[in-house]
Amino acid sequence: MTNTRLIDNFNREHTNLRISVTDQCNFRCIYCMPEDMQFMEDDAIMTFDEIVHLARIFVDLGINKIRLTGGEPLVRRGVPELIKQLGEIKGLKDISLTTNGIGLITQAKDLYDAGLRRINVSLDTLDEAKFEQMTRRKVLSKVLEGLQEAQRCGFDPIKVNAVAMKGFTDDEIVDLAKFARDNAYQLRFIEFMPLDADDIWGRNMFIPGKEIINKIGAVYPLNPVSMNGDAKHDPAKLYQFEDGKGDVGFISSVTEPFCEQCNRIRLTADGQLRTCLFSITETDLLTPLRAGAPDETIGDLIIEAVKQKEPGHQINAVNFVKPKRNMSMIGG
Ligand code: SF4
Repeated sequence: MTNTRLIDNFNREHTNLRISVTDQCNFRCIYCMPEDMQFMEDDAIMTFDEIVHLARIFVDLGINKIRLTGGEPLVRRGVPELIKQLGEIKGLKDISLTTNGIGLITQAKDLYDAGLRRINVSLDTLDEAKFEQMTRRKVLSKVLEGLQEAQRCGFDPIKVNAVAMKGFTDDEIVDLAKFARDNAYQLRFIEFMPLDADDIWGRNMFIPGKEIINKIGAVYPLNPVSMNGDAKHDPAKLYQFEDGKGDVGFISSVTEPFCEQCNRIRLTADGQLRTCLFSITETDLLTPLRAGAPDETIGDLIIEAVKQKEPGHQINAVNFVKPKRNMSMIGG
């Protein structure tokens, strides 16, 4: 399988894998999961050995970047050890992690010592009451503490991912930009996507990336950054603050889809390969792995699935079908 590359029928090469290590989470964000979320049985979830085994097969097929996601990855014990094992895979150039941040208070140092160097923290509001309304948890101060601990440990960059929602956090867009500038975090605004469990998504709650750029630019002038080389695959469109105080990114998946440049695939916590965040179909890798299938066979399943990858999401199409899985079961 070595020297094989994961190229789809649209000639997009896939080098970036997101692995969900658990569907569980200690938050209940309203745009992600219901309060009474039913999580998968433990034995349905990949063991760390199975994750590392599959990761080796993916890297053999040309994957060179892995991002760990959840649910909330840090609610699963032993993630630093998993990162150490992944770090030993030859050909894997980069490992990153997306977290809601509170686990960083106790785990940032272990994660850093395990070899992790960059991290994304989800934070949509700086307002205590709104934070509680959005996450159904009263822990904003712990997220802020987690961010500071990550900075103390030397993580760089530390990206803050914010989902902007109309009538909810649109009055905080400039505050979040100021917060990131003052703390040297890289802010990423993500357009609200229809992957919520409670069907709250609607165009009335959605703020287009352009509107967010204008709001920030009116206070902190911005210069667009040209995205060349690998950067052109980055979902975030980057802007630099004119005064040099860092940059801010905009992931406008709904209004400015970047599917033509997509180089990402996903592995769910129960070992299903999703070629797109909005895939309606999946390829089961865990059952053949547990049945003792040779790596070659699993590799062929991956190659074929990627070949048949969707052209892109259909959010703006009249016949848009929402995936059965909500965000916490995909991992973003
Ligand atoms: S929607 Fe699907 S195809 Fe488009 S960028 Fe996201 S994962 Fe890639």
